[in-house]
Amino acid sequence: MTTDLCGLTALVTGGASGIGLATAHLLAERGADVAVLDLDPSGAPAPLRGFTADVSDDRSVRLAVADAAEALGGIDILVNNAGIGAAGTVEDNPDEQWHRVLDVNVLGIVRTTRAALPHLRHSSHAVVVNTCSIAATAGLPQRALYSASKGAVLALTLAMAADHVREGIRVNCVNPGTVDTPWVGRLLDAADDPAAERAALNGRQPTGRLVTAEEVAAAIAYLASPAAAGTTGTALAVDGGMAGLRMRPE
Ligand code: NAD
Repeated sequence: MTTDLCGLTALVTGGASGIGLATAHLLAERGADVAVLDLDPSGAPAPLRGFTADVSDDRSVRLAVADAAEALGGIDILVNNAGIGAAGTVEDNPDEQWHRVLDVNVLGIVRTTRAALPHLRHSSHAVVVNTCSIAATAGLPQRALYSASKGAVLALTLAMAADHVREGIRVNCVNPGTVDTPWVGRLLDAADDPAAERAALNGRQPTGRLVTAEEVAAAIAYLASPAAAGTTGTALAVDGGMAGLRMRPE
């Protein structure tokens, strides 16, 4: 039972920033040959192999996955991590925005997995890890669209796990709480009082701080490893206790 990934290949979508970049680095550190698929892969330096694609564009996904599989000599590990956010209630987001976020966050996983499955089927260690969110299971205010998209990612993870378990392909997801990534940095920059907003985000998690991208990467790398060979169809929370703990007000 090892978390070592020597001899394995991995493709990480949204791998040029935040959780995806930390994951790509960790998988490489554990011995995997890693390709990153991103709108702009320039943020992922060597030894990571960068491929440009938009997960909302089926053709670009198919081309990039084929190129990555050729460069890597196959795909053993697929990390579906690319995603975008949206704030607001059901009254705030127009239909176009719903279509856009669902297209990237949900259909993006469908497209990349569909393109990667022929390669995963050739692997004796085939595994998919999706980046979901606490928003899939907790009622977060002002996150109607984003939560709906991540709820779909959770359900999709379970359905994919069932569909491919007999082929020896494991499928799991991670549910991060609020993670200190450039994404959250942008949210804080846009806030009226960034320091107060950061304190509020810290306070929302029982640990009293944001999760780090490296902590989420560690959970993804575990699920992707032989050590997790008995685990499929599950969501691993990396949320500072947000989903599971009921704290008394201080
Ligand atoms: P980030 O913005 O730092 O990185 C996202 C990466 O995805 C970027 O490199 C971006 O270029 C890429 N990307 C975006 N749209 C794409 C597309 N259409 N095609 C290809 N690549 C695309 O964000 P992050 O915080 O690292 O988030 C990564 C994932 O983690 C997302 O799925 C997000 O929903 C999830 N998540 C984040 C948090 C958080 O608090 N940061 C919490 C829970 C879940």
